[in-house]
Amino acid sequence: VAAVPDVKNPVLLALAVLERSPHVLLVGEGARQFAREAGVPTCAAEALITPRSRARWEAARARGGAAGGHGTVGAVAVSREGHVAAATSTGGTLGKRVGRVGDSPLIGAGTYADDASGAASLTGRGEAIIRVVAAKHACDLLRQGASVLDAARSTVAALERVGGEGGVILASPRGGLAFAFNTARMARAWCVGAGAEGDDF
Ligand code: ASP
Repeated sequence: VAAVPDVKNPVLLALAVLERSPHVLLVGEGARQFAREAGVPTCAAEALITPRSRARWEAARARGGAAGGHGTVGAVAVSREGHVAAATSTGGTLGKRVGRVGDSPLIGAGTYADDASGAASLTGRGEAIIRVVAAKHACDLLRQGASVLDAARSTVAALERVGGEGGVILASPRGGLAFAFNTARMARAWCVGAGAEGDDF
């Protein structure tokens, strides 16, 4: 889903689109109407603006509205049976134009999952991620036999080729996990069911 500023958990709405509609991507008013029909809660858009985000936006405006800064949350998962899934949620980039759609809701760009290859979720400058169709790029490499680490590194290299910065997390149907990024940092963690967990891959 895209352009849904008043849905608190867009991943739940995306899951409803996947499971309960014949479609892949719903945006704007149509997505909000589907949320109401599917029982996915909506809220006032202002309720999703944190004081920290507002302060950063005001500071950026004071500097002349320079774009930059992101805050994506992504997840990839693999089941015991080898089924994979990916989910990516973002508020977009600071200072973006009204109407701008980033990579996160675009299947193959910021998010992709296919049991035949793997699952990927990206963060970073969405325009570069879209240009190289980064999540699909990563999963195609897995399908061709690359290791999860090589596929993750190659994906960041593809971003660099178009001047982009960002990061990727990757899971293979056999349970391999990897990440790579060229930003200053990228928070990440893993867990196995409700048991083991960590932040070192
Ligand atoms: N990828 C997101 C976008 O361009 C931003 C982010 O990673 O937070 O919309």
